[in-house]
Amino acid sequence: MSADDRSKHLANVRRVLVKVGSAVLTCETRRGLELDYVALESLAAQLSELHDRDLDVVLVSSGAVAAGRGVICMSSECPKISGLPDRQAASAVGQSRLMHAYDQAFAQRGKVSAQILLTRDDLQSRRRYLNARHTFSSLMEWRAIPVVNENDTVVVRELEFGDNDHLASLLLNLVEADLFVNLTSAAGVYTKNPELHPDAEPLSCIADIARMNLNASCGGKTKVGSGGMYSKLLAARRAARLGVPTLIVSGREPRALVRAMDGEDIGTWVVPEEKIMSRRKFWLAYNREPSGHIYVDEGAVRALRERGKSLLPIGITAVRGNFARGAVVRILTEDGGRVAVGMANYRASELRRIMGLQTDAIETVLGPGLYSEAVHRDNMVLELESEWSDEESK
Ligand code: GLU
Repeated sequence: MSADDRSKHLANVRRVLVKVGSAVLTCETRRGLELDYVALESLAAQLSELHDRDLDVVLVSSGAVAAGRGVICMSSECPKISGLPDRQAASAVGQSRLMHAYDQAFAQRGKVSAQILLTRDDLQSRRRYLNARHTFSSLMEWRAIPVVNENDTVVVRELEFGDNDHLASLLLNLVEADLFVNLTSAAGVYTKNPELHPDAEPLSCIADIARMNLNASCGGKTKVGSGGMYSKLLAARRAARLGVPTLIVSGREPRALVRAMDGEDIGTWVVPEEKIMSRRKFWLAYNREPSGHIYVDEGAVRALRERGKSLLPIGITAVRGNFARGAVVRILTEDGGRVAVGMANYRASELRRIMGLQTDAIETVLGPGLYSEAVHRDNMVLELESEWSDEESK
């Protein structure tokens, strides 16, 4: 992609989702890390400026835990805050402060902000997902600025997004954003760790994130926040599959967000893929935790990967788990390699009875009028090998 394509895309953006990390919103004080109200003000000013240009703006903001930590340390002996329950409690203190600061900063500029707190569970059920989508859409209609964070206080580990990069990448689909800006403490993505190599320069563009080796390019995490560059690139890769470009840019540099939106060549631009995934398939692939596993033979793997076919019972060699019809399942090779995720037409017990059988035999075993496919192509997403090997090595 040329610099031209970048500015062409920027000129046509209608809805931008901006994610800001704790590393940008906090500063070190005598009492430890605290929310940096100057940084927050500057962000609200820039977002308001974009909003004045008729852009829809959605903000995903971290900082609740850091804000809470600051308050607790001021009011008591500064207890050690570590482990999940402490972080959740700190977030309960900090989230309201964080939101209050945003409300005030936006109100001064004539804007209305709205708090949305989510857990992964809220986006896993299709019903709740669609419900959340309606909420966002009303807010957008009212020209409000949603400020989203993970609902840290109530989340249990299995339902954590883990980091807000992940949350933001899933929201791109929900809010139908056409640009993802990830504000970080680094100037962009480096090919080598800038802490170890002072001559390292940020990349201006990543043209093929699907095939990029993320482990090699991500030296080190930021000390504050939970994601680091690695999770930013994973998030950018998901965005690319949805056809949304990502701009990873420093949130610490003066007016970097507005300057980047004006086309200045700062930060790293991640080019979206040409062949994009539908919104429904994206939800299927990234929002749902599979509730069972289907193992398939080599013939089926080839049919799925190379010929774009549906999965038929004849190719199934084993079924793990107890899932219902319509459940999301992971399809694996016999030795456990990931092939796809999809929605099963049959429950696990039915699949066990028809696996290995020809299509005509399904009727004899389960009765008439059923599906020929165990998982239909339209309800299936092939897994990118690079993607899963990266996610697994996290
Ligand atoms: N939700 C956490 C907070 O507000 C941050 C998660 C993250 O850093 O990605 O502090």
